[in-house]
Amino acid sequence: MTHDVIIIGAGFGGMGAAIELKRMGIDDLVILERESDLGGTWHVNHYPGLSVDIASVTYSYSFEPNPGWSRLYAPGSELKAYALHVADEYDLVRHMRFDVEATRAVWDADASEWEVTVAGGEVLRTRYLITATGFLSQPKLPDIDGIETFAGDVVHSAQWDDTVELDGKRIGIIGTGATGVQLIPELAKRAGHLTVFQRTPIWVVPKVDFPVPGALQRLFSALPMTQRAARAANGTALEVLSTVGVLNYKYGRGFNSIAALLAKAHMFAQVRDAETRRALTPHYSFGCKRPTFSNSYFPTFARESVTLETETITEVRPEGIVTGDGSVTELDVLVLATGFSLWEKNFPAIEVIGRGGRDLGAWWRDNRFQAYEGLAIPRFPNFFSLHSPYSYTGLSYFWTIEAQMVMLRRLFTEARRRGADTVEVTEAANERFLDRMSHRLERSVFQVGRCAGSHSYYFDPHGEATLLRPSSVAGAQRDARRFPLSDFAFESASAADGSPAEGATAGTGR
Ligand code: NAP
Repeated sequence: MTHDVIIIGAGFGGMGAAIELKRMGIDDLVILERESDLGGTWHVNHYPGLSVDIASVTYSYSFEPNPGWSRLYAPGSELKAYALHVADEYDLVRHMRFDVEATRAVWDADASEWEVTVAGGEVLRTRYLITATGFLSQPKLPDIDGIETFAGDVVHSAQWDDTVELDGKRIGIIGTGATGVQLIPELAKRAGHLTVFQRTPIWVVPKVDFPVPGALQRLFSALPMTQRAARAANGTALEVLSTVGVLNYKYGRGFNSIAALLAKAHMFAQVRDAETRRALTPHYSFGCKRPTFSNSYFPTFARESVTLETETITEVRPEGIVTGDGSVTELDVLVLATGFSLWEKNFPAIEVIGRGGRDLGAWWRDNRFQAYEGLAIPRFPNFFSLHSPYSYTGLSYFWTIEAQMVMLRRLFTEARRRGADTVEVTEAANERFLDRMSHRLERSVFQVGRCAGSHSYYFDPHGEATLLRPSSVAGAQRDARRFPLSDFAFESASAADGSPAEGATAGTGR
């Protein structure tokens, strides 16, 4: 049996694609999910202190507002509950298969179908394949000598184990990215002693957060336009932040300087010790990597029970961590807030072999990381990769999802109208898009700013900042609505036979 569509990943991206396809009447779609439940990042991550770092009115689907967010920045558990609500509301759960890990997809040119293999050996077939495997879904374990010999508990932030005892323990945490900034204050509250191993400091600005009053929740519920207005206001602020401070840094660097000053003033107000302040101050331009928001991070370092360790880690021993100065920090628990293997393991997350045997991962690595409109790749017919180079638009991930929903609708509608069996972006269109994006990056903080030493995952292994789409959200939305459909080849096996191609009123066109 051949499905119309297989989507890999039941996070917000995969669910958004499924919602759009179902709206088009496509019902034979299967969502494969390697985890035991839906929600992606928000199912997997449940470390102490987890909360969203984009205001919740914006970090949600525009067509499914949630008037009940408890705070401006909702805690992670509310995001998971929201994902469950959306899946229920849009009748997605019956399409999902949990604990099923796709490992490989191969284009079968004769049948114009994808063959998808899952762990355990089962093979599924589908006309269209959509990968929605996330950007930050493959935890990165640091390659430190002896780490496997550590005698205590080791826990990665994305594989949090609630049974690990933290109270009164000697805890070490490696990593001071966005996750570390959220986790460290929480660990400090519980640890007997906490040692923070910092390799690269991070910019931290104040977090303006508060509980959403019941009266406001009721207003959002009774008058949804008020929540839409709040979303528009927050969205505009984020749009200015990313277009001026990140994408047009060449002209807007004053904006970044002000943000860096704000972060320094924030630190000055919260950290009295000058040496600690020096150690916590980044030496790369604000914006090279995702800045963080916290009011509790800096004060943590004033606690007697917290040590900031900036010496390089040389090895891990059963009893603890050894640093470059030869000292050993004895630990009971080692927390790894060491981020994710993005370029190595997530681009792509599974082996994908397209037309003519093109291996997507090898092609990206041997050439440049690229995807037309952050969605389609030449020689990969009927394949849409939602988490691709140049796909991430603006600061809230939901803008990316919703622009992609528009693109998918246009492409599926056109394929259906033409009775096409295959849809594939042309090499020429892909090159034009890549040139346009590369050109735009020339004025971004990534090329004009001082990003050396930032260790930012926005940069791919070729040294190009291809993760974010260098365009405004408004521009990306416009492109989603208007990219020329002639950038794609729509082909029909029946037309090639000389028989007329038939349109279809349901399904994907066959
Ligand atoms: P990350 O930004 O990649 O940070 C990883 C940290 O681990 C860095 O400080 C890194 O140091 C350190 N590290 C890695 N390997 C190391 C090693 N071998 N030795 C010493 N230090 C090592 O990962 P993350 O903090 O998990 O954040 C990733 C992204 O997730 C964020 O940018 C954000 O987009 C997202 N996030 C969102 C939220 C939210 O919305 N609430 C919360 C958390 C995360 P170097 O910098 O020196 O490499």
